[in-house]
Order: sequence, then structure tokens, then C-alpha cells
Amino acid sequence: QAKDLGGAEHCGFEPSLHALAEEQRQLEDSLRSALDNDEFELVYQPVVDANGETVVSFEALLRWNSRLHGHVSPAKFIPMAEETRLILPIGKWVLREACKRAMQWPPHVMVNVNVAPPQLLEPGFAKMVEEILDETGLPADRLEIEVTESVFLSDATVARTALESIMSLGCSVALDDFGTGYSSLGYLRTLRFSTIKVDRLFVQGAAQGNRESLAIIRAVVAMTESLGMTTTAEGVENADEAALIRGLGCTKIQGYYFGRPMAAREAISMLHREATQRSRIA
Ligand code: C2E
Ligand code: MG
Ligand code: MG
Ligand code: MG
Repeated sequence: QAKDLGGAEHCGFEPSLHALAEEQRQLEDSLRSALDNDEFELVYQPVVDANGETVVSFEALLRWNSRLHGHVSPAKFIPMAEETRLILPIGKWVLREACKRAMQWPPHVMVNVNVAPPQLLEPGFAKMVEEILDETGLPADRLEIEVTESVFLSDATVARTALESIMSLGCSVALDDFGTGYSSLGYLRTLRFSTIKVDRLFVQGAAQGNRESLAIIRAVVAMTESLGMTTTAEGVENADEAALIRGLGCTKIQGYYFGRPMAAREAISMLHREATQRSRIA
């Protein structure tokens, strides 16, 4: 009897599979025209040095404000863009837009751009990066491309070659969300990543007293140091977490505590405020 009840009730609460598929299809349709409709925006989240005093970079994060669906989370539309390969034109727009913006910042501030596996694996990706750098005038050493370990899953050789090409342009490459995927220490041996980004999962865990998270961050810091790479802790939300991360020796910090992702204009204001403060101290 309980089984009957549960089954029937449950059905009433779940949107039907058909409705889900329909929603998915509509979202995909809208995504197809989002670039032409000017529905994308980049927001910028500061990455600060371990002291929390200097903005060393901004990570460009994509936002989609759809006419039809309102704000759609990147967690929802990025995978969809990857599956449909719409990430190729969208990603190119992101790269160009982010490089243009970075040209408005002081030269010591870098820009971080996320690149999804289909983008990196597309023939001519490095060439496209080179063209956009030429076109915008951004020096290659001010661009850091962020990839996750998942780029090595489908074709590791192509991924490696593409990353090496980007590095030979003079760009940096960061390994994003480190520790959440299929961690592949082998790639660290031969690819010159500049930064390992420690996922928020570990930062949160360590702050909550989870010994395994703490041990993992320690190990990543030690490893990156001896490999001549830097570490960025992601998702630092409060002063306690910032102090902990600083104590553990991470090189850079990113998170709501130091700044939420913000509009391009606000990012510039933040840099202005920082410059003013610095000249006051000097
Ligand atoms: P990600 O590259 O790991 O970016 C960091 C995510 O953590 C961002 O979510 C950011 O808003 C969020 N975050 C930063 N600090 C905090 C914090 O203190 N607390 C919490 N709870 N969250 C924090 P967002 O913007 O929703 O982006 C999610 C993911 O979508 C990104 O993860 C990235 O994988 C992907 N993504 C975003 N923009 C792009 C893009 O232009 N291209 C590609 N290919 N992927 C993108
Ligand atoms: Mg990222
Ligand atoms: Mg990340
Ligand atoms: Mg992350």
C-alpha cells in the first residue's frame, strides 16, 4: 500500500520527462540566438595575492540573461553549449570581450578566461587566441587560460598539443577545479601550468575542520611550489577561510570575501580605489 501511495504521489511532483525535454529544447533554441540577441555579459571576479591586498587578475565569468528565460545559470547553459558546440562561437566572443576589457586595466593585472574541452580540442584554437591577442593588442603574458582536467579525457594528445601551442604564444595556463575530476598528476610532470586552482570544496572542507581537505591543500601547495607553479584557492567566503588559506601558503585567493563577480565598470572602479589607496600609503 505504501508503495502505491509513494509511486502515485511522487509522479505528481516531478515534472514529466516530456516537459523536461521540452524545456531543454526551448533553452537550446534560445541559446542558439543568444549571441545575435546580445544576451551575454561577462562579469569579472578579482583574484588577489595571498595578503588580500593586491588584485593580480580578474576571472571573466559568462552570464546569460535570456529574453525568454531570464537569468540562466552557467551550470545549466555551459554544458548545453558544450553539447551543441555553440560554445565555439560563444567562447570566441568571451575571449575577445575579455581581452578588450583587460586592455583597460593597468598592465600588471591579468585576465583569466575559462575554456571548455570542445574549444581547446577544436583545430586552430591556439591560432584563434593569437588572432584575438593581435586584434585587441593584449600582450600574451596578460592572458591566463583556465582548463579543467576533463580536457584530457577525450583526446589527451590533442589537448596537450593545444595547451603547448597556447603556452608558446606566451599565455599562461591554469588547471581549474583541481582535485574534483580525474586528477592527472602525469600532466603536471610535463606541462608547464602556471597555476593550480584548488576547488572551493577543499577550502570549505578545511575551514570546517576536515583533515583530509586540509591535507590535500597542503600537498597541492607543496607540490606546486616544488614544480615552480602557483596556487589559487577558490571560493574563499570569509575572514576565517582567508586566514586559513594564507597560513597554508596558497599564492593567490579568489572568492566572495574579496569580491563577487562584478560588471566590467565595477572592476575598473575597484582597480582605481586600489591605486588611490596605494598612493596614499606611499
Ligand atoms: P569556475 O571557472 O570554477 O568559476 C568559479 C565559480 O565559482 C564561478 O561560478 C564563481 O561565481 C563562483 N564563486 C567564486 N567565488 C565564490 C565563493 O566565494 N563562493 C561560492 N559559493 N562561489 C564562488 P559561475 O560564474 O556560476 O561559473 C560556474 C562555472 O561555469 C565556472 O566555474 C566555469 O567552469 C563555467 N564558466 C563560466 N564562464 C565561462 C566561460 O566564459 N566559458 C566557459 N567555457 N565556462 C565558463
Ligand atoms: Mg575558472
Ligand atoms: Mg574554478
Ligand atoms: Mg570551482
